[in-house]
Amino acid sequence: MPSITAAPDTIRRLTLSTLTLPLATPISDAKVFTGRQRPMTEVVFLFAEIITAQGHEGIGFSYSKRAGGPAQYAHAKDVAAAVIGEDPSDIAKLNLKLFWAGASVGRSGVATQALAAIDIALWDLKARRAGLPLAKLLGAHRDSVRTYDTSGGFLHASVPEIRERADRSLADGIGGIKIKVGLPDGAEDLRRVDAIRAHLGDDVPLMVDANQQWDRRTALRMGRRLEQYDLEWIEEPLDAEDAEGHAALARALDTPIATGEMLASVREHERLIDARACDIIQPDAPRVGGITPFLRLAALADHAGLDLAPHFAMEIHLHLAAAYPRETWVEHFDWLDPLFEESLETRDGRMLVPQRPGLGITLTEQARAWTTDSVTVGAD
Ligand SMILES: [Mg+2]
Repeated sequence: MPSITAAPDTIRRLTLSTLTLPLATPISDAKVFTGRQRPMTEVVFLFAEIITAQGHEGIGFSYSKRAGGPAQYAHAKDVAAAVIGEDPSDIAKLNLKLFWAGASVGRSGVATQALAAIDIALWDLKARRAGLPLAKLLGAHRDSVRTYDTSGGFLHASVPEIRERADRSLADGIGGIKIKVGLPDGAEDLRRVDAIRAHLGDDVPLMVDANQQWDRRTALRMGRRLEQYDLEWIEEPLDAEDAEGHAALARALDTPIATGEMLASVREHERLIDARACDIIQPDAPRVGGITPFLRLAALADHAGLDLAPHFAMEIHLHLAAAYPRETWVEHFDWLDPLFEESLETRDGRMLVPQRPGLGITLTEQARAWTTDSVTVGAD
C-alpha cells in the first residue's frame, strides 16, 4: 500500500500505450449508408498510466474510430515529458502545460485528444489517492444514472435483431433503447422506428440518432413525422457544426434535440450552448481533451439550463454524469467490456456508480495482448 501523506507528490513515470480493440461485428450507422464511411471493425485506444514517487497510480484513455489513433499516440509521446516531476494534484496546471508543449498544432481534435488520456489518468489518480470514486471526488448528485442501450440499434441490424437485443438490454436493467436512423430512404427509417416503438410499448424511453446525415429540410420533415413516437430525443439530426440549424430545429419540434459528440473542444461546445442549439448536450471527455475541459463545458451547459447525456466511454462518463446537477443519461456500450476486469452494474433502468476508488477500472490481460506499441517516459 502506498503511504497516505499530505506531502506534495511528484509524477515519476508515464506509460503511453496504443491498443486496437476488434469489434465482434462490423458496425454501420447512417454515415456508412450515405457512403461517407466504411463499416467500423475496430476502435483504437490511447492509454495513459501514471505512477508517482509515493507509489500512487492513475489510468486514463482516449480513443479514435476509423482513423487518428496513430496521430493521438504520436502527439501524446511528443509532449508526455512535460508532466514528469510535477505534482499530480495540480491537474489544471498540467493540462495547460501539456497544451503549451504542443500548442502549434492547435486547441482541438487530435492535439487535445492526445492530452485527454493523461488528464483522465490524473483525475483517476487523484480520486484513488483520496480513496473515493471519481464521482464522489467531484461531488455527486446521485449514485446511479439512467442508462440506455446503443450497441443493439445500429443500421446493420434488422428489426427482429434490434427487438431481440432490446429485450435483452431491458432484462439486464438498462432503461432506454436508442436506434439509428438516417437511411437514404426516410420511409424505411420510419418503418423501423414504428416497429420498435410498437414492440417496446409507450413506457420505454426510445431515442433515435441520425449521425449528422440529414440536411435541414429533411431533418424538419423527419422530425415532424417522428413527433408521434414520443422520443426521448433526436440525436445529431444535422451536421455537428450547424449550430444555427440545430437551434431552429429545436425551436420547431417538441421532441428534444441532442448533439455534441463530434465536437472536440470547449470552444466548439460553447458555440452550441450560446446558440441554444440543443436541449441535451452530449460531450465526450476523451474527445474534448479530458475531464478538466469536460467539467468546464458542463458548467456552461448547466448555466444555460441544458440536460446532459455524454457520448460513449461509459466507464468515464458515468462518474461525470453523476456529478451533473440535472438528471442525466449515460450511454451503454458493451464494446469496451473485454478491456476491463470490472463490469458496470445496471438495475431498474440505471447504471450504478461503482464504489471502487477512481474510475474503478483495471486493464485485462486481453487488453495488454491487444497493445501494439507502448512507451514509458520518466524514471524506471
Ligand atoms: Mg450518436
